[in-house]
Amino acid sequence: MDRKKKFDTLAVRLQTDRSKHREHSVPVFETSSYVFNSAEEARAVFAEEIPGNIYTRFGNPNTDELICKLCALEGAEDGVATASGMAAVYLSLTALLRPGDHILSARQIFGTTSLLFTQILPKWGISHSYADINNKEEWEENIMPATRLIYAETPSNPGLDLIDLKWLGKLARKNDLYLIIDNCFATPYLQRPIQFGADLVVHSTTKFIDGQGRTIGGAVLGNKEIMKEVRMLSKITGPVMSPHTAWLLSKSLETLTVRMERHCSNALALARHLEKVRDVAWVKYPFLPSHPQYHLARRQMKLGGGLVTFELKGGQKRAHRFINALQMMSITSNLGDARTTVTHPATTTHSKLSPAEKKMSGITDGLVRVSVGLEHIDDILADFDQAIRQPKK
Ligand SMILES: *Cc1c(COP(=O)(O)O)cnc(C)c1O
Repeated sequence: MDRKKKFDTLAVRLQTDRSKHREHSVPVFETSSYVFNSAEEARAVFAEEIPGNIYTRFGNPNTDELICKLCALEGAEDGVATASGMAAVYLSLTALLRPGDHILSARQIFGTTSLLFTQILPKWGISHSYADINNKEEWEENIMPATRLIYAETPSNPGLDLIDLKWLGKLARKNDLYLIIDNCFATPYLQRPIQFGADLVVHSTTKFIDGQGRTIGGAVLGNKEIMKEVRMLSKITGPVMSPHTAWLLSKSLETLTVRMERHCSNALALARHLEKVRDVAWVKYPFLPSHPQYHLARRQMKLGGGLVTFELKGGQKRAHRFINALQMMSITSNLGDARTTVTHPATTTHSKLSPAEKKMSGITDGLVRVSVGLEHIDDILADFDQAIRQPKK
């Protein structure tokens, strides 16, 4: 009877206690605070001698349910749900770091995370350096006496480069450093960084965990000891997720497995198709044998993920012409949506990077990023084909 349930089942079945009203679907607990039966009970709950809800900034049955599920899926012991992915990144870093500490991060990270490293954390005496995600020596060389923490995302945005999590986990352990992994692109269905030694996993739940582009949210997950610090910081500074968002996301997780399977099979089919199109200069997708880290991807990820990048011959002009000719796809910067979304990073999400930074992150002027949705693959391919064929006006 105690057989451990599978990932897919946990994502569907873990639920807040519903013994009182016997509702099948958990309701949204839209309440700012909770009542006690007596002054003594209030004292005991505040003293954490008995469990109980106090106030929604501290916790709520909906955020508890979401965190319980995410912990089961990521293999974490505890977690905190946050108002955005950036709040999760911010809490995870500031809970662990002190003035004088140094962060070693992959250069290929989410743009706003790099702004946090360059514009905000230096104000409190926290420094950083970047190592190239593809250059193991650069990682080893950049560990300094003040280094406390290693930070990375894999696959990277938008370059779709991977980092070997097993190697990175060993590097962190050998040097006694914390390891934080942003697992937003892969989701726990494709890869579980805690298995490889990550101390904390952060998520922007806005992307594949929501899956329909409705909410902004995030989560920090990890072991009990470290999460104590993160939880305290979250309680005191207050960037918490709303109960309604947590309720929606918990429902979203029920379909994570089937959505990710379709995102990945559509993405692989699109990538294979684009490889055969004459006007396409190159295509990048972790599960294409032409990806430089194909073997690592096969080892580390269950499937190749929902994102494909490619470039048409003719640079930025050609990329814009292609995007403008699409009939069904959405032109937007979000990703992880049921709808296929198309982005031109060089002129939008990554436009603030200098030409040198763009070059180092592999963002060419013609690069197009596709978050492949759940539409029928025939319709996706048809829209791409007609847009690629579109002649110059
Ligand atoms: C979107 C994103 C974030 C930030 O999340 P928000 O929910 O927008 O605050 C962080 N990391 C990655 C990899 C992302 O794609």
